[in-house]
Amino acid sequence: MTTFTPATQPSQLHSSLKQTFGFDEFRTGQEQTISQLLSGDSSLAIFPTGAGKSLCYQLAAINLPHLTLVVSPLLALMKDQLAFLHAKGIPAASIDSTLSFEQSQQVTRDVRSGKIKILMVSVERFKNERFRQFIESIAISMLVVDEAHCISEWGHNFRPDYLKLPRYRQELNVPLVLLLTATATKKVKQDMARKFAIASEHIVQTGFYRNNLDLSVLPVAEKQKHQTLLDVINHHQGSGIVYVTLQHSAEKVAEFLQQQGLQAQAYHAGFKDDVRQKIQQDFMQGKTSIVVATIAFGMGIDKSDIRFVIHYDLPKSIENYSQEIGRAGRDKQNSACFTLANLDGIHTVENFVYADTPERASIDYVLQNIRNEVQGGQWELQVLALSNASNIKQLPLKTLLVQLELMGIITAKFSYFADFKFKFVTPKEQIVSGFNADRSEFLAQVFSCAKMKKIWGEPDFELMHSRYQAPRKRIVSALEYLADQQHIVLETKKATEVFSVNMAALDNADLVEQLYQYFAEKEHAEIERISKLVQFFQSDRCLTKQLSHYFDDQFAPENCGHCSVCRGQVAVLPYSNNQLAISSETIALAIAQIQQHFSSLKATATVLPKGLSIDTICRFLSGMSVPLFTRTKVRQLSYFAVCQHMRYADIKAQVVSTLR
Ligand SMILES: [Zn+2]
Repeated sequence: MTTFTPATQPSQLHSSLKQTFGFDEFRTGQEQTISQLLSGDSSLAIFPTGAGKSLCYQLAAINLPHLTLVVSPLLALMKDQLAFLHAKGIPAASIDSTLSFEQSQQVTRDVRSGKIKILMVSVERFKNERFRQFIESIAISMLVVDEAHCISEWGHNFRPDYLKLPRYRQELNVPLVLLLTATATKKVKQDMARKFAIASEHIVQTGFYRNNLDLSVLPVAEKQKHQTLLDVINHHQGSGIVYVTLQHSAEKVAEFLQQQGLQAQAYHAGFKDDVRQKIQQDFMQGKTSIVVATIAFGMGIDKSDIRFVIHYDLPKSIENYSQEIGRAGRDKQNSACFTLANLDGIHTVENFVYADTPERASIDYVLQNIRNEVQGGQWELQVLALSNASNIKQLPLKTLLVQLELMGIITAKFSYFADFKFKFVTPKEQIVSGFNADRSEFLAQVFSCAKMKKIWGEPDFELMHSRYQAPRKRIVSALEYLADQQHIVLETKKATEVFSVNMAALDNADLVEQLYQYFAEKEHAEIERISKLVQFFQSDRCLTKQLSHYFDDQFAPENCGHCSVCRGQVAVLPYSNNQLAISSETIALAIAQIQQHFSSLKATATVLPKGLSIDTICRFLSGMSVPLFTRTKVRQLSYFAVCQHMRYADIKAQVVSTLR
């Protein structure tokens, strides 16, 4: 498949490293990866965070004849890498939602003319048909997938849209692929390599054993956590991060630490961007010594002297744990990592998994919806509305759609916003008079046709079409342009996705069952992941060694000598909810309540089959949040969440025996 000239000589690579990037030496794994790429071999690079993964594609890209296309999951990561590339004088750009129409036109032109060597996009960009048409016309030397573990259904951060990347690669005829990730188990590693046909000898994995990280598991009852946290912090100098699961606990714990006279700040995704930036900056500059954060904190934080990382709650997975503790001690100085552990929250974590598995009736609803609503071979949907109607949460619904795409049943065409509204910042007359005659007349028409209320107005696409034959596209780009120039504020609603449908492929009696089995298997793997996490923290083997083993890394010593197990402390995690049994009478009353509730609102409960499924009943008893419950006000019923302290499997067993 390769069309390259032979590999660049090692001496040339070194001079390229020095001249362009100003570094004297390669870091472990970099040179091997780059040489493989320049010999035409697709590669997978697994380096710990901060070990210079990005340099692999950057140096390769400037030695390849055509464009390097980088898919990155996070806008902030893209912008950081772009800033770095520009500082090194490498022509790179991104196409993303922050660009104005004019700016993205400019990027398109520069890519076409070959001026840009590296183009960064999000995976969602491929859903846009116009982008696909554009990128299909460009010669691409290499596709780079950052955070590539997102492509594996068995990975910890699975992103459904990533599954389509191998196909885009084929369609775009890209000879070379580089996958980058910091963490991957053996299964995920093999899965990633298989999906992109990467030979096992081209997987470059550097050990991530860190001899300066001291790991401790502290078994602690929920009530004792505040005190234990305080004790740990008081024994440590310098900056640290305290990780919690919920936004609300971030605030509570930060408040507690402040009351103890410590400089602590809460951080979570619920804060506004500028607030979050300020907290990050204060932490980077040492003005705040402790940040109490949800997992939202850390991506792109490059502070080398973090002395401690404390998990106040159990981390989400071993992958998360490894990534989060990896932020400590980047300066190679000794740093400590503590996990305050008990089993109280485990069933809550499991419930998130169970709530994500769609029921058969829900899958069937989506397929029926396609059959009923397809028009001229096209099917339109709004994710939120379909999620509500089908009772499938948004992420699994997106996963379902991607599965349908991979089965060749639907194909993403484009997306648009169904509703727009705008208000003036610059007076209307002033806007209109600021353009040449042609544009000025067009804008005047758009404004005169708009339905204006006191402040906000809505463009009237139909009127514009009937009066002036103005295409919707032109009106939307004009409004978007004015919004970019801050002449108006534009709000968009109801993102609508459009798919083409292969009706023959949809006509398959086994489809519901096939899709259901796919989700059941995923659920099983996720529950397994949680049980591995618990085993890890309770294990009697060296924690550091086990962590390396989990990630298939052979470099760590058998006993590290700097973890709590090596110090002879094997953790037994306490469980303080002493399994309050719920009587079968109560279960029977609860079942009667939800059955009664749904029979009284048959008309609104779209997906409910004749009887309530066992899973719907169990979700009610365990207090899960699924779209159906929100929409039908189930949460207000007195028995909602009556079994919330129990594990799902136990609830199910009791329901089955009650219904028997
Ligand atoms: Zn150890």
